[in-house]
Amino acid sequence: MRKILILLGPPGAGKGTVGKKLSENWNIPLISSGDILRENVKKETHLGKKAKEYMEKGELVPDSIVTEVIKERIKMDDCKNGFILDGYPRNRKQAEILDGILENDNKLLAVNLVADDEFLVKRLANRRVCEKCGAIYHLINMPPKKPGICDICGGKLIQREDDKEEIIRNRLKVYKKETAPLLDYYKEKGVLKEVRGDQELEKTVSQIEKLW
Ligand code: AMP
Repeated sequence: MRKILILLGPPGAGKGTVGKKLSENWNIPLISSGDILRENVKKETHLGKKAKEYMEKGELVPDSIVTEVIKERIKMDDCKNGFILDGYPRNRKQAEILDGILENDNKLLAVNLVADDEFLVKRLANRRVCEKCGAIYHLINMPPKKPGICDICGGKLIQREDDKEEIIRNRLKVYKKETAPLLDYYKEKGVLKEVRGDQELEKTVSQIEKLW
């Protein structure tokens, strides 16, 4: 049976960091729609060019664009034992599409990582990411050993364009309007759990691991 974890929750709740740790512990891939889109923007692919304007404003990229890349990604061989989704689905339509793609032989859980807005804004404003390998740091809580340099690959740490306060606030607004209704979708299916995202990483990770 495939293990499928959908990480839900607002931007900054820790989906990427928690997902990475669980992906290592469980040996299944972490699939981040945001990372895939950013990679496409960086490489200036056809898809990246279409997604860029939405991402810069903190708006959602049209479903058709994101769905295409996710569909392709979860077909890959490394997903045969399961995978973790971060950032997808982002609205009800995407959740329905995902249901349509997945076969029946899955154990699926959706975990909602919760935290207050002000906590999220602070965490995102202090977030830095490696431009090479995508590793995530926090200037105060999880700083790199050498300022500005990734511990893992030596790449340069940058601030995401959409981690500027004004854009962060818009992303939170978009989350509440478009993504939060998804919680009901998974609640009705009986697969939704809630875990706090504003505690120590290890605690969040172990609470999620106990849910299986
Ligand atoms: P994230 O890295 O998850 O914060 O995503 C960064 C940006 O990528 C979002 O603000 C959206 O513009 C876009 N994005 C990522 N995932 C999705 C998705 N599932 N649907 C639509 N847009 C997305």
